[in-house]
Amino acid sequence: MKYISCIHLEHGITFFSNSVQICCISSHPGGGSIIEINNYNGESINWDEFFNKRNILRENARNGNTPDKCSGCYYLKEQEWNPDNYIDEVLIGHFTHCNCNCIYCYTEKDKKFFNSNKTYNIYPVIKDMIDKKILSKNATITFGGGEPTILQEFEDLVYLLLNYDVYNIRIHSDAIKYSPAIEKGLKLGKITLITSVDSSSKKIYEKIKQVPCYDKVWKNLAKYAKSKNGLIRTKYVLIPGVNDNLTEVKNWLQKTYDAGIKHIAFDVEDNWFKKNRNKIPPYLYVICDFVFDCYRQYGIESCELYERAYNLRADRENRLKLNSDK
Ligand code: SF4
Ligand code: SF4
Repeated sequence: MKYISCIHLEHGITFFSNSVQICCISSHPGGGSIIEINNYNGESINWDEFFNKRNILRENARNGNTPDKCSGCYYLKEQEWNPDNYIDEVLIGHFTHCNCNCIYCYTEKDKKFFNSNKTYNIYPVIKDMIDKKILSKNATITFGGGEPTILQEFEDLVYLLLNYDVYNIRIHSDAIKYSPAIEKGLKLGKITLITSVDSSSKKIYEKIKQVPCYDKVWKNLAKYAKSKNGLIRTKYVLIPGVNDNLTEVKNWLQKTYDAGIKHIAFDVEDNWFKKNRNKIPPYLYVICDFVFDCYRQYGIESCELYERAYNLRADRENRLKLNSDK
């Protein structure tokens, strides 16, 4: 039976620093952030209870009632959904520590607090999911956070997942610390590494990241790129007033290619986008269109649009369609 639902609602789990949620998606009108377990600190999960609760939401979706918090989310789609109880979308974002200091990051408001914020060890939780066969081998595991490579359990956790033969591990890392586990996963073709560089010049990098690591990051990215099999994306978060410069964008595409990297990701800064979604200035479309339409000219093979960039493009296409229908 086909019905409207989403991959996260059906089979997703997201670990945050003090809660377990269904997903981390939040810039649509419904706002997302559906909490499953509050005040969570890495305790073992009663999976029967977990799926009983989840199946109420799934049953409601089957009857045409998706949660209000999902309203307007682009992940919703109508299709057949597998009714079994398993997890195949995991976001690991239970930590807030980071060796970088991006001006757009939620941790920037109080770096000292977020860098000392106590975090739990997620290794036993993931191991339990593997032992109980709750985690599908087809799962997509995404590391967000915080900076994952500085997590104490990071290397062991990645090797655990690689040994379990999960083949779609997405790691968002600032690439300041080089990780042998990431290198191994890239060589095996099981890891996608995404590094937000948000710039092509040292000046803009340091303005955004507030750490003197520009050369180190590009050196590490070029070293990871030698692994050949794995997919590496440099990401550009467009921040109006800071890096909204077409030359910086063009040089980012070139620098990515020169580092031996063939894939990119693109986004628009979250807070700015939420405030300005309905009044995007035309010059930003020029920059976005350049990225969407011209990245192949630089030898780049694919461009992944993150939530805000995807919404920006979709909003504009809808508006154009509405105008042409009039
Ligand atoms: S529809 Fe969107 S908000 Fe709702 S669970 Fe799916 S991804 Fe999350
Ligand atoms: S690298 Fe990520 S976690 Fe670290 S400061 Fe930047 S946005 Fe925040």
